[in-house]
Amino acid sequence: MILKCLGLILTTFFLLTTIAHAEENVDIDQEKITLYKQIEAITFIPWYYLAAINRYEANISDNNAVENQRIFISIPEEKWYGLTPEKVPADENVISLFGGIGKDGNGDNMADPTNEYDILYSMAMYLQQYGYTKQDIRTALWNYYHRELTVLSIMNYANLFNTYQKVSLDETAFPIPKGYNYSYRNTWGDARGFGGRRIHEGTDIFAGYGTPVRATTFGVIELKGWNKYGGWRIGIRDIYNRYHYYAHLNGFADGLEIGDIVEAGQTIGSVGSSGYGPPGTSGKFPPHLHYGLYKDDGKSEWSFDPYPHLKRWERK
Ligand SMILES: [Zn+2]
Repeated sequence: MILKCLGLILTTFFLLTTIAHAEENVDIDQEKITLYKQIEAITFIPWYYLAAINRYEANISDNNAVENQRIFISIPEEKWYGLTPEKVPADENVISLFGGIGKDGNGDNMADPTNEYDILYSMAMYLQQYGYTKQDIRTALWNYYHRELTVLSIMNYANLFNTYQKVSLDETAFPIPKGYNYSYRNTWGDARGFGGRRIHEGTDIFAGYGTPVRATTFGVIELKGWNKYGGWRIGIRDIYNRYHYYAHLNGFADGLEIGDIVEAGQTIGSVGSSGYGPPGTSGKFPPHLHYGLYKDDGKSEWSFDPYPHLKRWERK
């Protein structure tokens, strides 16, 4: 009886979405949120966790997206089917008997790892086993991904999506506000820089002491404090698995803490010349902002050249 009711509910959702699809120019972000909320309605897993997992998996997916692809979560076969002898879409009860997490989300009685409803519903049901608190979700994610940075990123994306009630946060800003003097050139990969790394992993933007430094994108503060080379520095991760590193600061904007959300263009600190010594060391080189960009592909993180991005953000 319960199963039948659930099936009916699922079928109704499926039909409603099919109708929504027929409408032209439906904003794809809104479509996605609608999809997540349908799954939330039947699993009670808040939609923004599903959105965050999907965002993360889109970031690490190397296949080119199919046009209008909405769901990028790819549940590995061994998780989906468990020990089911044949790895083909099947009844969810059979899959469940063999320890797989694959479920039927669209009401066609088949748990299909290529169907977006089945994928989202299976993921939500997987999370649900652990419970609904933040800590429960974190534990579920850890047991699924076994990677600290992945769990942290997804939790941060969920926080951003929940805070702004949207899944695109694409506004950008040049780190130095208009009206201040500054100069920079492409120094990424140089043998030497005021960064203390083997090669220079960033762009140095020279400006006077106290010039405001702004976040270039929306994101969550992942790191803040002193480092022997970077001085006072702050690290912010955006929703595209990119880590923005701001170093040699004079100080931080008031009230910023690790875990806080920042918006593109928000002042996070000011230009200084801190670093190259114990906490508080300053003045060993001309004041500048060292801005570094790193990308996480789900396995490792690497530095890439921020210069072209800075040029683009500067023009806006
Ligand atoms: Zn630098």
